[in-house]
Amino acid sequence: MSEPHLHTKSLCDHVINVATGCRHGCEFCYVPTTPAIDSRDEMLAEQANVDDPQTDWGSYLLYRDDLPERLDNILDERDPSERKQTERGRGVVMLSSGTDCYQDRRTAQITRGAVAELITHDIPIRILTRSPAVTRDIDLFQAAGNRITVGSSIPSFDATLVRAMEPNAPPPMTRWQALDELQQAGVSVFVSMSPTYPTMDEDDFHELLSYFRALGEVVIFHEPINPRGANFQQCLNAAKQAGYDDVVTELQQMQDSHQYWVEYALNQLNTVQQVATRFDGLEVHSWPDDELVRSTSGQLRSKLKAMQQAVSPESFSGKQTGTSPEQSKLAHETDSLGHLI
Ligand code: SF4
Repeated sequence: MSEPHLHTKSLCDHVINVATGCRHGCEFCYVPTTPAIDSRDEMLAEQANVDDPQTDWGSYLLYRDDLPERLDNILDERDPSERKQTERGRGVVMLSSGTDCYQDRRTAQITRGAVAELITHDIPIRILTRSPAVTRDIDLFQAAGNRITVGSSIPSFDATLVRAMEPNAPPPMTRWQALDELQQAGVSVFVSMSPTYPTMDEDDFHELLSYFRALGEVVIFHEPINPRGANFQQCLNAAKQAGYDDVVTELQQMQDSHQYWVEYALNQLNTVQQVATRFDGLEVHSWPDDELVRSTSGQLRSKLKAMQQAVSPESFSGKQTGTSPEQSKLAHETDSLGHLI
């Protein structure tokens, strides 16, 4: 289990990746730039004939078949009280952040074994996948009760645009249908609206949030797209190839002007929060980027920081909610950037 900084997004304290590589090959994916891939070029060349782990991203996948057994040993040997547990990460283990843990039968099989071990050791779990195949493990999720939440990334229901950005991932509506099936089976679900595209407006967010509201009890995370390095250029190229000239223009302007991106990101965060108020009880947990916070000042900066520090309204403990009254207040205070922009 690795210990990434995903507690800062109130997602988890630990991550288990069931494979190295990911066939979905999302253009915006940051994983190939991380040490988990970047430092393994020799191993990838030897075992999967990978020339360049970054440019070949999406074409290779190395399975960790022995993961459930190794996990069992590790969990048996380690003192649970020494396991990392932060206020926002809550000791949760997430599968997976560096690959899709249900992208095919073999990853699904490894995932099932790993999840079963985590349940046996009473460890809270978050599953994040774009694959509807996740529904095959409903029985397992039901056994875990409130100790597990299962979610999917759905940035938009524009299937053509999503396909351009996430070339091999299943269409967004099939992800929603999987979440619907899970929710109806009594499994806690969440959605990651990430990364939302610059051309999306109030109507697009209204449509997205109405679908998410239709899921019933659901936790929503939101993050606008952030321009960084080679991945951003790849998004731009993919939008160009798919004929989305309006998206290309917006991405180009963001790439050329830091201030343009700041204004876009603030507006999207605010628009989503505003639209969410139309749906009774629908709470959106926003993820403002660190660079965005650094680019602001005064009350606006304080609000963005409060957004970052809020704990997601999820329960992993079997109690009503994992959020304390102070945290709820903090989260409530973040519900609009309004006149501060
Ligand atoms: S599904 Fe996740 S890990 Fe896989 S390519 Fe897309 S963003 Fe990267």
